[in-house]
Amino acid sequence: MNSSNKENIKKEEIEKTTDEEKTTDEEKTADEEKSADEEKTIDEEKTADEEKSADEEKKKPERFVFNCTKCGECCEKWTEIPIYLKDLERWINDGSLNYVLPFLQMREEPPFNVKIVIQRPSIEGDDPNPSGCPLYDYENKICNLYSSLPIHCDAYPLGFNGEKFFLVDRECPGIGKGTMTKELLLQMRDKAKNHNNSQILSSSILPILNSLIMANMYKRSQEAMDALSEEDRKKLEEMLSKEKEKEDSVSSEDSKKEDSVSSEDGKKEDSVSSEDGKKEDSVSSEDGKKEDSVSSEDGKKEDSTSSKE
Ligand code: SF4
Ligand code: SF4
Repeated sequence: MNSSNKENIKKEEIEKTTDEEKTTDEEKTADEEKSADEEKTIDEEKTADEEKSADEEKKKPERFVFNCTKCGECCEKWTEIPIYLKDLERWINDGSLNYVLPFLQMREEPPFNVKIVIQRPSIEGDDPNPSGCPLYDYENKICNLYSSLPIHCDAYPLGFNGEKFFLVDRECPGIGKGTMTKELLLQMRDKAKNHNNSQILSSSILPILNSLIMANMYKRSQEAMDALSEEDRKKLEEMLSKEKEKEDSVSSEDSKKEDSVSSEDGKKEDSVSSEDGKKEDSVSSEDGKKEDSVSSEDGKKEDSTSSKE
């Protein structure tokens, strides 16, 4: 073998080795890229899973945790507390009705709603409880009806609409306080359901009772009118017509006052606008004079200029 053949063989071996190294490097790079891609995919899947579980966490209904702090904020801010027929029934049975009765009022809300509420009567002079529920003891921070709370207060702050439970008031400081046992949660849920049922029952029965009472009152007054002698009826009619005249005169005086106030306002506006008009006229006439004098002077100047020319 001559030396040139030897060199060729050596060259070929070197090239082969280089090719093999190149192939190994390329394979290594491809492997690395593949594993990087796989890691990326795993990371992306992980992130997607995390986001999904965070979304699911968000969708989960809020866990209701509540322990009353006895702060009394609810009792101090409510100006009327709805009362249901079941409350009245319970208070008749446990003897609390006499205590609550002075604070009960019946309220018609047209067209058909009738409500019973606990409301502060309008008391003149010093009132130890300046606002809020009249049954709240501000000094000792306690409800005077604590042993037989109205259903509305007993369920607060959890509500139930027939399908779902909801928070009636997110501002209640007892929300999120302490721990909530399973038993306590079930109790609260029962109270909220009881509140919902009592509300439905009262809102369907009270309007019927109210219309029966009104019809009965009308019938009684009609019977009383019929039982009057001719003379007494005339006297009563006179009294009623005088009352009506008084009411009419009061309302006509009120409307006159309103008219005079609005006509005075109108006059003021008229005088202001006529004064404004005069001012505007005088300003424009003065402007006119000025313009006239300026144009006549300009005319004279022009005339003198043209005669000089
Ligand atoms: S129910 Fe809420 S607002 Fe009312 S006393 Fe308890 S913590 Fe206070
Ligand atoms: S009845 Fe009692 S619990 Fe209900 S608002 Fe009045 S003071 Fe508070």
